[in-house]
Amino acid sequence: MVEKLYPITWDLDSFFKGGSVSKDLRIHLDEVKEKLKIFEEKLKSFAAPTSSEDAQKLENIINELKDIATNLSEAGAVIGCFQAQDTTDKHAALLEGEIGSIYAKFSSLLLVIQQVLSKSEETVWNGLMQSEELSEYSFVLNEWRDEAKKMLSEKEEDMITTLGVDGYHAWGQLYDLLVGDIRVKVKVDGEEKELSVGQANNLSSHENATTRKEAFEALETAWTEKEEFFAKTLNHLAGFRLAVYEKRGWESVLQEPLDINRMKQETLDAMWGAISKNKAPFVEYLNVKSTMLGEKGMHWYDLDAPVSASTEKMDYQQGAEFILKHFKEFGPKLEDFTRNAFEKGWIEAEDRPNKRPGGFCTGMPVSEESRIFMTYSGTMSNVSTLAHELGHAFHSYALKPVHWMNRQYAMGVAETASTFAEMIVADAAVKEAKTDDEKIALLEDKIQRSVAFFMNIHARFLFETRFYEERKKGIVSATKLNELMETAQKEAYGDALETTHPHFWASKLHFYITGVPFYNFPYTFGYLFSLSIYAKAINEGANFEEKYIALLQDTAVMSVEDLAMKHLGEDITKEAFWIKGINLCIQDVNEFIQLINAKG
Ligand SMILES: [Zn+2]
Repeated sequence: MVEKLYPITWDLDSFFKGGSVSKDLRIHLDEVKEKLKIFEEKLKSFAAPTSSEDAQKLENIINELKDIATNLSEAGAVIGCFQAQDTTDKHAALLEGEIGSIYAKFSSLLLVIQQVLSKSEETVWNGLMQSEELSEYSFVLNEWRDEAKKMLSEKEEDMITTLGVDGYHAWGQLYDLLVGDIRVKVKVDGEEKELSVGQANNLSSHENATTRKEAFEALETAWTEKEEFFAKTLNHLAGFRLAVYEKRGWESVLQEPLDINRMKQETLDAMWGAISKNKAPFVEYLNVKSTMLGEKGMHWYDLDAPVSASTEKMDYQQGAEFILKHFKEFGPKLEDFTRNAFEKGWIEAEDRPNKRPGGFCTGMPVSEESRIFMTYSGTMSNVSTLAHELGHAFHSYALKPVHWMNRQYAMGVAETASTFAEMIVADAAVKEAKTDDEKIALLEDKIQRSVAFFMNIHARFLFETRFYEERKKGIVSATKLNELMETAQKEAYGDALETTHPHFWASKLHFYITGVPFYNFPYTFGYLFSLSIYAKAINEGANFEEKYIALLQDTAVMSVEDLAMKHLGEDITKEAFWIKGINLCIQDVNEFIQLINAKG
């Protein structure tokens, strides 16, 4: 059936020949470092613009920044690929450390520019923003200026950054160390095994109920034994963040994450409001699932349990053809782009040892190409992951005509193109299912995502906002943290849980990420936002692709509210918008329950 074979490993030689010891890469890195040094020297005389004649000067700075940033990202992306394809590649690990420090230098120079720009006078600034040279970048430049204005003085911010290395980020690193040290004993297939946290977590979808329960209980015991360590880590990490916010005069802990995501508080409230009012169908799904598992209520350790073993497998070539076929139904550009990615070796999919787990898509901005990493073993979930990452790559492709300054999109919209592509494939798979059992399994896979975004992520958000309120008053004990988590889970799961996971706050890495605060609600935003675009795509048919590309091109130059209004004609500060997306997910639940009932 398949005439042509797509390569199953990627081509990195087209960027830098010779892998992690490449001479070309060495030369490239040295050039970037040299450019950065010259740029740093030059910035010493960079002063706040005083008249509209400075527009040209500022444009030159922007283009130099772009040149350094894109060359740096090109190398960083390829080094990331080296590491992912072979975790034993020591040379790649060294390069990772080297590129990390170049990035740090680059960020500090960027901060200097932002601080300087914030000092120019309002009238001069407005003139600059309307100038021929700079109007194209005005959204980002205004954002830089506003951000810098919300900060303390250069000296104070510099001190915070310096103290943060040991006083803030170090708590995040300590967390990784504590978790890395944990081993739990679990009986798997009759044999007692000593497992890391990651390995034990993977048992949450094991087909044997006892194994799932034992793994969960062993982990819960391990978290309990070390709860004081985790509570201390979380308290101090949050304490540092709150102290910085207080010094800057920021009242809400949500200010920073909302700014990063270019989102209004009303939008976030409307999203959670709509979700909270529409939990009933998902509660019903959880009840049906627990009954299928022979239980009276849903246990935490059964949430990921498989309900049906029957799904078709597809080899890589079939998976690729399946994706191409359904992308084609959406639009010719997505199909052409994807075919090219398959043919030209943009994808690393081989199932072999020493590869990093998981999947990602990374962009090489100089070559204007992307690379996708994953391990393909033939499951439908692998096909979805592949489609997801291709969606990210298509987002980068759509941004090709856009200047680097206007390509820096945030986490919430980052997951839009990926989820969109995944939906095309997941929906097609359900429609093409050959048996009811297969359909049930595929629908369940889709519903699981809704449960994750509407319930699990919601619990994390509720917990985190409440924890920060408590933390403002003082240290929060481990017992109190458990209580907060249990309450949040009960509420977020609409009282559908028979057992909760009180130490979830200790087990979830996302609470300890210092680089990005509130690593939770942007996931739910991206999911629902892309669902509503998907609904529009179905209505409008093949003509929608151009509109879709136009939307993607605007993802980094306006607020999410403006983006939705301009391209979808929707007011996302209102619950009505969010309910439309949720309704699509409810249809899956209804279909799932009908099929289960029909089976009797
Ligand atoms: Zn993604």
